[in-house]
Amino acid sequence: MALNTTETMRKFLLIAVLFLLNSSSIAQVPCLLPIDTVETANGTMLIYPNRTWAFLGEDEFDGVMNDAIHEMVSSDSTYGFKTKWDHNSTITCTTNEVNEIEDTLWLCVLDTAHMGFAIPFKGRMTSKYGYRRGRNHNGVDIDLETGDTIYAAFDGKVRYSQFHHKGFGNLIIIRHYNGLETYYGHASKLLAAPNQEVKAGDPIALGGNTGRSTGSHLHFEVRFYDNPINPELIFDFKQEDVKDNLLVHRGIFRPGSSATVYHSGSYDKSSSSHKIRSGDTLGKIARMYGTSVSSLCRLNGMKETDILHIGQVLRVR
Ligand SMILES: [Zn+2]
Repeated sequence: MALNTTETMRKFLLIAVLFLLNSSSIAQVPCLLPIDTVETANGTMLIYPNRTWAFLGEDEFDGVMNDAIHEMVSSDSTYGFKTKWDHNSTITCTTNEVNEIEDTLWLCVLDTAHMGFAIPFKGRMTSKYGYRRGRNHNGVDIDLETGDTIYAAFDGKVRYSQFHHKGFGNLIIIRHYNGLETYYGHASKLLAAPNQEVKAGDPIALGGNTGRSTGSHLHFEVRFYDNPINPELIFDFKQEDVKDNLLVHRGIFRPGSSATVYHSGSYDKSSSSHKIRSGDTLGKIARMYGTSVSSLCRLNGMKETDILHIGQVLRVR
């Protein structure tokens, strides 16, 4: 492991040196060569001559964990969602307006590359998602004792790990490959750092009672582009199970709504989504909407051989 890091650093330095040597305007280029590297819990830290620092690889990461989802939500004019890789604020972009969503997006909660999931803490749910005492409760509360281990729900990368002064207390936010983020609040101790890769089931924090909290518990949220949804749309906390797919549409961002009721009305040729019915095949759907099977596969991140399920919603354009 140490050898690999050294090797990576050596390659990095070599590339940096070659870059500087090839540059015709060396005098104008600020000295980019780090003078030292330090191994930290957050990854390899590069120290520069002007005493600034950065983490190796941090600059290149744009925060997009799921290219297919991001392509859909950022290119469609009705979404236009943005995302940032921000270690110091919970909400990364205030203009991701879910009420603008006109289509239904099929999100694979689990896929073949990232099959794992974990219930963050197996305890009694003391408060559900929705309105509570005149406020919107953006997650679920799970009872625990201070010091109990909290686990990452899915594979992903830690975006935020610090004390949050506006109520969450010690908070970890993980961004996942499925396109969702999960929040774990009120911890007594944080066990993972920003930029750290985690696997589903990895210990990420110890439960506690920090922030705006009365009694030790885990406040757990699931968010899609900064917008909270009911974690119970995905997790069956009692059965310790998870749903494979989530239909993302503006209805799910309203407390009390269901993930499967997505829009009224029947088959509409101008619709941008299609709900699978008995007897449907990709070929038939492609013909109905004047598109191709390969285009359907690309839009929905699926293969021609994937099995269609009744009720499943496909994007058709
Ligand atoms: Zn809560």
